[in-house]
Amino acid sequence: MISFSSVQSTSAAGAAATAARTALLPNHNSHQLLFSFPSKTSHFHCYPHRRQQGLRIRAIDAAQPYDYEAYLVNRFAQSTKLKIAVIGFGNFGQFLAKAFIRQGHTVFAHSRSNYASIAQSLGAAFFFDTHDLCEQHPDVILLCTSIISTESVLRSLPIQRLKRNTLFVDVLSVKEFPKNVFLQFLPTHFDILCTHPMFGPESGKNGWQNLPFVFDKVRIGNEDSRLSRVENFLDIFKKEGCRMVEMTCAEHDKYAAGSQFITHTMGRILEKLQLDSTPINTKGYETLLDLVENTASDSFDLYYGLFMYNKNAMEQIERLDLAFESLKQELFGHLHEVLRKQLFGKSEVGMRRPVLAKLPKNGTPLLPAQSESLGNNDN
Ligand code: NAP
Repeated sequence: MISFSSVQSTSAAGAAATAARTALLPNHNSHQLLFSFPSKTSHFHCYPHRRQQGLRIRAIDAAQPYDYEAYLVNRFAQSTKLKIAVIGFGNFGQFLAKAFIRQGHTVFAHSRSNYASIAQSLGAAFFFDTHDLCEQHPDVILLCTSIISTESVLRSLPIQRLKRNTLFVDVLSVKEFPKNVFLQFLPTHFDILCTHPMFGPESGKNGWQNLPFVFDKVRIGNEDSRLSRVENFLDIFKKEGCRMVEMTCAEHDKYAAGSQFITHTMGRILEKLQLDSTPINTKGYETLLDLVENTASDSFDLYYGLFMYNKNAMEQIERLDLAFESLKQELFGHLHEVLRKQLFGKSEVGMRRPVLAKLPKNGTPLLPAQSESLGNNDN
């Protein structure tokens, strides 16, 4: 059997490619011959010597000038590399792009503002025009814009310029909303993956080890290439050590309102108090200062988006309000009891002291405050 392959014998890359093609030929039997043509010539003359830039004949079972195994490993690695278009190259978009580039993926960036020089310094290509960006045919469109601008940004993308089965991913901190927007605006030939890295530039600055990464494969086509593309994207976060959590967007929003929204709200309340570090900080107080630092660096748009676009958030605000009222009642109740004792002595025996009503689990209204009898054994 004779195999033909073109070669750019003047460049190392060309030689490597030729060697690789040789390596990938199906039957490496003894006495097989490989004929290589120079790439820049269409002449099919045979040349006896390599220096003459012509057809080369050599035994395929001879020692090969290339480490095939390394080549194959490299080629496999290359096949897992993605072209990722980050739409919204602000705080979080840049933070994610650094990891993508570190792992060898190609990053195209677009944003409302001009981040061309930042993109260049990170190793990404910045596109002012989304038409130009889409014509690069990225494998993944990653929406990193503010929650509240998501719909208008998605509508503004010239999706007709993309490959027909491009994968759309979002990283919004709420999940049902982008899922619905994607399903509403994207034709069915686009794949959809909704994700939420549960960390940010501040909490993830020392690495992403064990930090949760939530994802929901909302719509992924059956073809192997589409299935492997979504896995390649998820692998980025796996490789960084994230704890991968697959759950529905609805489940995410329910959990996130009770955890993330409360965290951000407490951080913002504490920020308003302008807490200062003291020479006698307790560990608990340090935790509060850290919370302020973690949440204050996020934009108000982000916080507002957590409230506006998670239907469970309103209930959490009400619960916080009730919890604070309830706590005040308990405190003031105790204070009144002391005052009454001072004013009326033992005549108050038998009065009931209000105690803090525990808030029931999410979704159930507050129980009426219980009372605790002061009893006759008051001493
Ligand atoms: P953000 O304030 O939520 O979003 C800022 C980004 O949105 C910037 O790229 C900004 O573009 C773009 N943007 C805002 N308004 C826009 C508009 N009207 N039209 C077009 N683009 C607009 O802050 P972020 O921290 O960078 O978050 C980005 C996304 O990641 C959000 O959806 C957020 O929920 C999610 N996320 C953030 C974190 C975090 O810790 N920060 C963690 C997980 C997920 P320009 O800068 O060009 O103006």
